[in-house]
Amino acid sequence: MKKEYFLEKIFIGRLNYGSDILSELTSICEDLNIFAGKIEAFGAVQRATIGYYDQKSKEYRWNKLNKPMEILSFIGNISLKDNKPFVHAHITLADEEGRVYGGHLTNDTVVFAFEYTIFCFKGESLNRIYDESTGLFLWKF
Ligand code: ZN
Repeated sequence: MKKEYFLEKIFIGRLNYGSDILSELTSICEDLNIFAGKIEAFGAVQRATIGYYDQKSKEYRWNKLNKPMEILSFIGNISLKDNKPFVHAHITLADEEGRVYGGHLTNDTVVFAFEYTIFCFKGESLNRIYDESTGLFLWKF
């Protein structure tokens, strides 16, 4: 199961101090009309909420980390869900003692500093549909 894409454009940018990472990235992708792409970033957060998907209950469990942390790595993809750009990203964070946390990015992960690169792909649109066996909205091929 795969599709072929070409790299069309690369945008680099920075999110404002205090902004919500997921909502900002989603609105950037909506403005740019991205239907397939990839995001990379790093920087630091003031606090974070990250998820772990429980494969048995098929539900996310949310982990609130109410402290400043470094973003060691941030990677995500962009596709369409319900015909709108949807950002799916995972984040790896480190606290002042170097303890590492990671998970599925959700709202209420707040920027201290955030520098991103968005890779826009050229090709047919990449859509998410509900997948019975995982309970997730996965890419449709
Ligand atoms: Zn995820």
